[in-house]
Amino acid sequence: MKRRKVIQSLSTLPLISSLSVAKVTGGQISRKKKRDIIAELGIRSFINAAGTLTYMSGCIMHDEVVETIENTSRHFCMIDEVQDKVGEKIAKLVHSEAAMVTCGAFSAMTLGLAGVLTGLDVRKVEQLPHLAGTGMKSEVICQKSHNERYNHAFLNTGCTVVEVETLADVERAISERTALLHFLNITANAGQIKHEEWVAIGKKYNIPTSIDIAADVPPVSNLWKFNDMGFDLVFISGGKAMRGPQSAGILMGRKDIVAAARLNAPPRGYTVARGHKVNKEEILGMYVALEKFVSGDHDREWKDWEAQIARIEGAVKDLPGITTKVTIPELGNITPTLTISWDESIVKLTGRELRDKLRFGSPSIEAGFSGLPLYYYQAGSDSIDPAMEETLKGANLIRVTAWMLQPGEDKIVARRIREELTAGR
Ligand SMILES: *Cc1c(COP(=O)(O)O)cnc(C)c1O
Repeated sequence: MKRRKVIQSLSTLPLISSLSVAKVTGGQISRKKKRDIIAELGIRSFINAAGTLTYMSGCIMHDEVVETIENTSRHFCMIDEVQDKVGEKIAKLVHSEAAMVTCGAFSAMTLGLAGVLTGLDVRKVEQLPHLAGTGMKSEVICQKSHNERYNHAFLNTGCTVVEVETLADVERAISERTALLHFLNITANAGQIKHEEWVAIGKKYNIPTSIDIAADVPPVSNLWKFNDMGFDLVFISGGKAMRGPQSAGILMGRKDIVAAARLNAPPRGYTVARGHKVNKEEILGMYVALEKFVSGDHDREWKDWEAQIARIEGAVKDLPGITTKVTIPELGNITPTLTISWDESIVKLTGRELRDKLRFGSPSIEAGFSGLPLYYYQAGSDSIDPAMEETLKGANLIRVTAWMLQPGEDKIVARRIREELTAGR
């Protein structure tokens, strides 16, 4: 750009109010004034230093995903054709026989199990969730430590979950009612039965096996690891680290089961999964997010997260009474996680109080605040489990992750936490 032109274009900058957005679309710059509906309705938006939490709206989609959603929204397509084409591409990327985009990992669980129960029999699809007296299968077997709240997705089909602890328990529990053997990756170390044994016992009795890896990328290799291992169904969220649509996920697995799952899902029917609608924008947006994630530079991204976390840690660790620790969860939400704790006799704040100061400060920041795994308080920002509430009351710590920070926000988080910890003395 020539100097005069630069000056010209710079001179227009002050005219752009905070409500307008200079947006580059297909090489063209449009400075259309955009309606800021978040501000208009007085909705609080914030810097997310907590993580990929549903109640905080999950993630910020990648620009490529937003562009895909915007561009595809102007066209009609047949949903089946979109799912066919996208499913084929996704299956190749994740080493599965077939795949479909669902409206989240939870939806993938319900739909996958529905597919196992109904096969391609439309009358059975209409039968769900009333399984009694139909001769249909009605039980999911799961290790006790793997029977987390997300398994409610299975109950929606009319099935019950049978808990086991040992391989002998599994063999005893298997019957003509058994539809599925389900495994939860995030608690893989808590159960006695490991992945390979789970798959093997499924093969031995010819019962499909499934695994919930909703929050288990990175590492990117988890996208195909469990398909390669022989699980018949794999469930993952689209709106966590992959930064696809928050209302999307993927069901990967056996061709016959995915085909049957689709028979249970929109655009067909008035059956249990009618509410599991994903439109073409989300299906295509999910595909683009996955493609971007698979081809992404994960080492670079990891180093960025580490650098941001180090900056926030560096801003507070010299303060008196402060202890900092960076850990990487072994399973689930695998990202550098900074725990900042303090001596209550020096810093007179509870974790919750500090979190509130960050939340109601300017700019608003959300931080994690418990020593417990993040998914325990997914229910609501201030409506955590009553049982957890007691545990957390006096906890003098907060937790911070960098993976949902936008460029530059680490500096703001670092400054704000330092300010509040200093003021708390
Ligand atoms: C997030 C999560 C789910 C639910 O995923 P959605 O995509 O929000 O439906 C299920 N299981 C586990 C372990 C999760 O972390």
